Amino acid sequence: MARKLGPLCRLCRREGIKLFLKGTRCDTAKCSVSRRDYPPGQHAWRRRKISDYGLGLREKQKVKRFYGLMEQQFRLYFKEAQRLKANTGENLLILLERRLDNVVARLGFALSHREARQLVSHGHMTVNGKKVNIPSYLVSPGDVITPASKEKTQKTVRENLELTKDLGLPSWLERSTEPLQGRVLALPNRDDVPIPVQEQLIVEFCSKG
Ligand code: SF4
Repeated sequence: MARKLGPLCRLCRREGIKLFLKGTRCDTAKCSVSRRDYPPGQHAWRRRKISDYGLGLREKQKVKRFYGLMEQQFRLYFKEAQRLKANTGENLLILLERRLDNVVARLGFALSHREARQLVSHGHMTVNGKKVNIPSYLVSPGDVITPASKEKTQKTVRENLELTKDLGLPSWLERSTEPLQGRVLALPNRDDVPIPVQEQLIVEFCSKG
């Protein structure tokens, strides 16, 4: 029987790709995009030809939704990516991968980006022993990310890890359970970005704006 899609899954469906907005559920057979068991008609996938403008906009929205950014935040990242040397599109994605909330999610300490952002902003994470409650904090090689020692935090993170432990870890991160912590081994590279995105279209789109 066709199931009603939740708001997050509807976003994925609208973009036509998995945006991994529901954490661990996204890697299971329960993912609505994988199953495509939504009602036909009213929520049909876009099939019409999309203009260059539309393509660029779609790729940008994809990235904004995946990393949970508002337009203004996205613009700041884009500006910074332009300022850095080499490829602007890759710079943009690498900057976003380095966000602390993303790293907390990638380490499996949270079940979704949304939960990771909450853990960080509520002060449940430390970087190199100091509390950091800024989700946009950019990690660097050598940084050690540790959940706060509070019993509740440790319990939540350990439970999340139990559910995420089989999902694999990107090669630029390392994780241990005793003590419970993650370490940044290197800067991420383009291949570490987990969503399929054509960053060059974003660059063309944003450069015109
Ligand atoms: Fe829903 Fe996650 Fe699948 Fe997107 S990737 S449709 S959020 S389960």
